[in-house]
Amino acid sequence: TRKNKKARHSVPSIEEPASPVPSSSGGAAALQEQRKHLPIAKGREALIQEILDNDITVLLGETGSGKTTQVPQYILESGLAGKGMIAVTQPRKVAATSLAKRVAAEKNTTVGKLVGYSVRFDECSSTETRIKYMTDGMIVRELLSDPLLSQYSVVIVDEAHERTLRTDLLIANLKNILKERNGSGEANGKGKGKANKLNPLKIVIMSATLDAEKFSRFFYNAKILYVQGRQHPVKIYYSVEGQTDYVDSAMRTFFQIHVDQPPGDVLIFLPGQEDIESLEKAIELFAKQLPKDEMEVLLCPMYAAQAPGQNAKVFTATPTRTRKCILSTNIAETSITIPGVKYVIDTGMCKEKRYLARDTGGGFDTLLTKSITKSSAMQRAGRAGREGMGVCFRLYTEESFEKMALAPEPEIMRCSLTSSILQLKCLNQDLEELDLMDMPDVESITSALKTLWLLDAINSNKELTPLGRQMAFFPLEPVHARAIIASKENGCTREALDIISVLSASSKLFVDITELREQAAEARRMFRHASGDHLTILNAVRAYEEIVAGGGGKHARRDWCRKHFLNERTLLEATEIRNQLRQTCGRLGIDWKVSCGDKEDPVVRCLAYGLAQNSAFLQPDGSYKQTMGQSVVKIHPGSVLAEKKVPAIIYDELVSGTAVA
Ligand code: ADP
Ligand code: MG
Repeated sequence: TRKNKKARHSVPSIEEPASPVPSSSGGAAALQEQRKHLPIAKGREALIQEILDNDITVLLGETGSGKTTQVPQYILESGLAGKGMIAVTQPRKVAATSLAKRVAAEKNTTVGKLVGYSVRFDECSSTETRIKYMTDGMIVRELLSDPLLSQYSVVIVDEAHERTLRTDLLIANLKNILKERNGSGEANGKGKGKANKLNPLKIVIMSATLDAEKFSRFFYNAKILYVQGRQHPVKIYYSVEGQTDYVDSAMRTFFQIHVDQPPGDVLIFLPGQEDIESLEKAIELFAKQLPKDEMEVLLCPMYAAQAPGQNAKVFTATPTRTRKCILSTNIAETSITIPGVKYVIDTGMCKEKRYLARDTGGGFDTLLTKSITKSSAMQRAGRAGREGMGVCFRLYTEESFEKMALAPEPEIMRCSLTSSILQLKCLNQDLEELDLMDMPDVESITSALKTLWLLDAINSNKELTPLGRQMAFFPLEPVHARAIIASKENGCTREALDIISVLSASSKLFVDITELREQAAEARRMFRHASGDHLTILNAVRAYEEIVAGGGGKHARRDWCRKHFLNERTLLEATEIRNQLRQTCGRLGIDWKVSCGDKEDPVVRCLAYGLAQNSAFLQPDGSYKQTMGQSVVKIHPGSVLAEKKVPAIIYDELVSGTAVA
């Protein structure tokens, strides 16, 4: 029943080197050789011709066929981009940075020169840059300063099938930009450019799954091109009965493969970082007990919050007598291709952003762990068959597979629109009037508008206020931007930035291991602040800075963080973020050096400006009721306020019904 059974495609004399990553010397030639053998290479001339002939092209191709890494290079090499840049958008930060590095290596250079990237809080490009991998969020942000994206002559919208909110907003804007720059509303206009000498724009929409028609229809029936993939048959096994503990079941399946099956790397799909870390520990522990003559296990976790470069070993050749075990979120589903995978274990779960408490506004999303869709299940299985026959173990029953939804609901239908509507307001656009592929429902627009109004970003006529415009300058959720702006009149910008940069980092500062919760609380006692977790974060940041200033070096810092159950990666990332936020403050005339010293009131007050909607009051029965919603919220057991009954709380995050104060 699997489509890839018939899609087998054999190309003579293809032998992909075990390691597609170049060694520091002499790798360039090998990389060029590999490029020539990618499935997309044969279609190169035809593809360039199509892009020349059409303003909009839709390109569909199996994961790993070379779309993301090759198409931008073909366009550059053919000269059709003229003097402009080529943007390649990605829904995920890690994909953008790691693909930029790969393509830079293929171009025999380092990232930041000819090939660069731009993701939130991290830009790596120069005046030389011609190909820029960027998150869809960053290119939407660029619209604010350059509404026609005039720096770019080609915009490649990659992973379009994921239908992230930002990709949808980008696509809607591209349609307008095309009219402005090319003066045509058609897919096959020749990019003549309007009389006013705007450089014409080319758009390429790329996707791995079979939903190209919808994009084509949206873009005036643009031509769809198909890349013939190189997919081998994949044998699929289902669980006989449903699993309750997918981490445990993944571990057992892994060792069955490891002990019984021939060599070949294993890719395990899990919903998120926590599960990845706990499975990693479990496998590590068990692997130690294996007989000495068994192959070694090399564990490679892959998830969004990893520091750049941290996942590099996933791409390097598997050593002899070793089986690589890659533990990944859905990032390895279509965005990143990992060589050498022969076995896939699919837990059937993923994390999905969802806007909870719609009636409360709140303005933030929560990540929920839920069942994947059929299209994800198929993509996951496909990862096993890229280099030869593969096997996929689904840790769910065939019946559950049949019951899965076909494809995920577009993000715009289920995520908070607050920050997008604010950005659009800055572009003089109203979401309701935009030509979108799917229209969100009225309530979610209304609730976002209400949040923006409460934050004083818009007035009661829904018009952008000067404050709102300032807020949009910050690469942050509006609630956090509002708090920073409020810190100016409260004289505590330094403190506000210390806290908000930690909240904006990709992983949590306080390492929270349920079994070690008491021990961690004890180790962190010195940071505890009676007023709550925000001030506790501030104390921790200040203590860390003293350690840094003490000059004990890298190891001393690491040990100190470990001892106090603090995630050092978060602190390092937060420092970078804070530098950027300080610059933004500078541009807006907010002096980041202003500090309130040891006073806590100003800090709490400015946070409350932003988080007013995320507040709750103590009830006589000891529970907390939301100020602006109906829900009863609880304080997370990891919070310093967990044991207390303070009269009111503000929070940053709701976790499936549990609140962190
Ligand atoms: P697609 O976009 O069609 O899924 P890609 O262009 O991402 O395909 O990948 C093409 C090839 O490049 C794959 O064989 C993959 O193994 C290789 N590749 C991509 N990124 C990296 C990387 N960071 N390191 C090593 N190899 C990579
Ligand atoms: Mg790709």
